[in-house]
Amino acid sequence: MRPTQIPKTYRVKSFGCQMNVYDGDRMAELLAEQGIQPAAEGEDADLVVLNTCHIREKAAEKVYSDIGRIVKDWGREDGSSPLIAVAGCVAQAEGEEIMARAPAVKMVVGPQAYHRLPEMLRDAAAGKRVTDTDMPAETKFGALPKRRRSGPTAFLTVQEGCDKFCTYCVVPYTRGAEVSRPNADLIDEAKRLVESGAREITLLGQNVNAWTGENAKGQPIGLDGLIRELAEIPDLARIRYTTSHPNDMTEGLVAAHGEIGKLMPFLHLPVQAGNDRVLKAMNRSHTVESYLRILEQVRAVRPDIALSGDFIVGFPGETDAEFEDTLKLVDAVGYAQCFSFKYSPRPGTPAATMDDQIPLAVMDERLQRLQTTLNRDQYAFNKASIGKTCDVLVERKGKHPGQWLGKSPWLQSVHFTGEAQVGDLVTVELTEAGPNSIAARLLDTVTA
Ligand code: SAM
Ligand code: SF4
Repeated sequence: MRPTQIPKTYRVKSFGCQMNVYDGDRMAELLAEQGIQPAAEGEDADLVVLNTCHIREKAAEKVYSDIGRIVKDWGREDGSSPLIAVAGCVAQAEGEEIMARAPAVKMVVGPQAYHRLPEMLRDAAAGKRVTDTDMPAETKFGALPKRRRSGPTAFLTVQEGCDKFCTYCVVPYTRGAEVSRPNADLIDEAKRLVESGAREITLLGQNVNAWTGENAKGQPIGLDGLIRELAEIPDLARIRYTTSHPNDMTEGLVAAHGEIGKLMPFLHLPVQAGNDRVLKAMNRSHTVESYLRILEQVRAVRPDIALSGDFIVGFPGETDAEFEDTLKLVDAVGYAQCFSFKYSPRPGTPAATMDDQIPLAVMDERLQRLQTTLNRDQYAFNKASIGKTCDVLVERKGKHPGQWLGKSPWLQSVHFTGEAQVGDLVTVELTEAGPNSIAARLLDTVTA
């Protein structure tokens, strides 16, 4: 596009976590409100927003190679090129360098400033290069358009930022301090999502269970209180939340798992490592024992709960024996599904300059062993589900004729054939387990 032109079409490419997916959707809504249309599949866009993630290595390199590719592939016959904006956590952490290194980038916008995209766009279209990485105290959410469209499953960011400062993590620096969105705004957004098609809402936050707010009487409530209020929305069938910190797992939230039918039997509770010395060096503020105690309490109120977690292998100084402790923890828990990563030194974090950085080959070997164990447990969890009757929320068509894909209450991918449509809650019998998905037989379409 030529300078002085407001783009007609856009594409938002989101990397990383679900919160980035949510932010990417909100940016898309904001652009659509300005009359800018999503670019059709396979077509060039006038505006490309790279919504980046900074949590692990090579994030910035990926951004530069994407920028290079866009400039090279999308140069037009008339010599014009798309307007490129870099958003998200890499923009926040490395905005100045991006502007210096990549002249094709006209806008850099941090995760707390993207509500200002329309003004920035006007400046950029007038030929300026603009950066906004402010972390304003006021919330950006009030400045965003109301939700109007949703598929059967929707994300809803309820909390942002983090005050925990784990020694390996950039989030407190890129996303800022913990902030909870007000209860009334969330109920309003959830109702709009449901009116526009959502049957399942996943509440998001870097530490979602640190959310606090007030009920209509002005009394303080925690995430369990919010979930209770959301469960009152008639056409909302399912509620999930992620990601939680073990230290914010309150008694109320544990109890909610036994009391609220719409709260799905799934808990993502990252532990990171199975050894107390490593946890202390990570500044995790929980121990292996306190973590296991929480899982026990949740299992006591919801015996079928599917457990999930995050792991980091090769944190500086982690010995072979300490890594073995992580494998022991995994054996003790029996997770349904997990994420596991090699430690990645993040510039500016305390762990990046710690002694005893672990060689890549050692991390590779540990990650492979851990993932073999986690995959074994995921398959075992899937096999143990066979014969169960459960609801599946239909999300999309499968590859084969008449086939549908959706999720079980335990967040397993389920496929079946039969009469259904996207957004249906159907009753199925789980018949055959694979390592990553489950085949099912359609029994009934749930009407309630
Ligand atoms: N707040 C959540 C918690 O404390 O468990 C996690 C949110 S964090 C954005 C997602 C995951 O990324 C973490 O649980 C951790 O496993 C992983 N992670 C964060 N920093 C990392 C690093 N420097 N190297 C490797 N993995 C990292
Ligand atoms: Fe990062 Fe989670 Fe630790 Fe916060 S609690 S610093 S988001 S790993």
